[in-house]
Amino acid sequence: MAYREIRKDGDEVLRKKSRPVEVIDKKIFTLLDDMADTMYKADGVGLAAPQVGILKRIVVIDVGNGLFEMINPVILEQSGEQDGIEGCLSVPGTSGEVVRPMIVKVKYTDRKGETVVIEAEELFARAVCHELDHLDGILYKDKAHKMYTREELEKMQR
Ligand code: ZN
Repeated sequence: MAYREIRKDGDEVLRKKSRPVEVIDKKIFTLLDDMADTMYKADGVGLAAPQVGILKRIVVIDVGNGLFEMINPVILEQSGEQDGIEGCLSVPGTSGEVVRPMIVKVKYTDRKGETVVIEAEELFARAVCHELDHLDGILYKDKAHKMYTREELEKMQR
């Protein structure tokens, strides 16, 4: 187990475009392991490689339905719409309302090198869209139509 430092908004690595993974080797396995450890420790539901300073197209997601490790993920199709609150481990202390598709079909390579196509719905779809945006240097706050501080959000939820 190893934790990596989560880069915060303002760090230029978060604004760069990540490169596809060409070879899935031991370094990639270690990165996947470390990303999952770091995500769980931070109580997140997703983490993208640029958030730990690595410009590779890799994300890990667990919205409560198990860990998904996605290498070179691509959204093939999307449908529907959902509006909801989103946060990001790289943008601490704030949340925002972001419109996302309700369903996305995503294709990726898993750690065994197999191509996987899955359909993600609701929170899972939101997490896929959020994490994939990180691979193109996009943060949710760029897309949010309303932003909240942590205090404002707590007040709303009370
Ligand atoms: Zn994020």
